[in-house]
Amino acid sequence: MAKKKVEEDQALSVEKSAEVMDNKSENSALVSDSHASLIEEESLEERSIAQKLLSLYHLQQIYSQVDKIRVLRGELPEEIQDLEDACEGMQTRISKYQEDIDDLKRKIVSEETKIKDSLALIKRYEEQQNNVRNNREYESLTKEIDYQKLEIQLSEKNRGKHTLEVETKTADITEIEQKLAELAGILEQKKGELSTIVAETEKEEAELIAKAEDLKLLVDERFLVAFERIRKNARNGLAIVQIERDACGGCFSTIPPQRQLDIRLHKKIIVCEACGRIFIDKQLVESDQQ
Ligand SMILES: [Zn+2]
Repeated sequence: MAKKKVEEDQALSVEKSAEVMDNKSENSALVSDSHASLIEEESLEERSIAQKLLSLYHLQQIYSQVDKIRVLRGELPEEIQDLEDACEGMQTRISKYQEDIDDLKRKIVSEETKIKDSLALIKRYEEQQNNVRNNREYESLTKEIDYQKLEIQLSEKNRGKHTLEVETKTADITEIEQKLAELAGILEQKKGELSTIVAETEKEEAELIAKAEDLKLLVDERFLVAFERIRKNARNGLAIVQIERDACGGCFSTIPPQRQLDIRLHKKIIVCEACGRIFIDKQLVESDQQ
């Protein structure tokens, strides 16, 4: 009785069939008494329930196709955005390295200027040494020359250090540029895919939606509302599912054998107690597809 209550709460059970089910289990004598008349009534009810289930199932299939298109398209813009961000990051790094290199080159030029200045000074001091009046003047000029030589050594050391840094940064830029070219290639490919998908699927999607609208007209308003509510809440967009390996095809919770039997009989709309999805019998689907 608890099971019956749940189904009524979900406003999806068909009272008459439910009563028949209960009578069957509680009092088999009663069932056999009115057996003939019940069969007729049931088969009518069964047919209409089967039809309702199949209409919902077809609607579900169309919606699933629409979902697939949207998922396909939905992931690509995100991937493209990620790639664009990555490319931009690399461009920024390249510009930063390029600025560093320019700065280092300016420093190299400055060191070279210092070397030239020192060499000029040395030349001048050496000339002056030819015209000194005494040893002290000569010694003093020698000291100046030695100092300038040390200055040249320091500048050469700095120039060497900066040159090495330029080489390293240049190699880094080359490496980043290679990766960037690779990513830019993928980006172009993804952009192409997206525009192709959009072009290809826009028409398909519109056709599917039109088909769904037509099909909706065949479904009871009451079932349609329930169906759409379940679909909206279901993570995979499935509102009507089959039993797969004794479990709900939507949420994978186990379905007891008696309930599976009820589903197979499709005398009423039965929903999953765990996730609320509507069940449709596999055989009913298969017979419809034949
Ligand atoms: Zn379920």
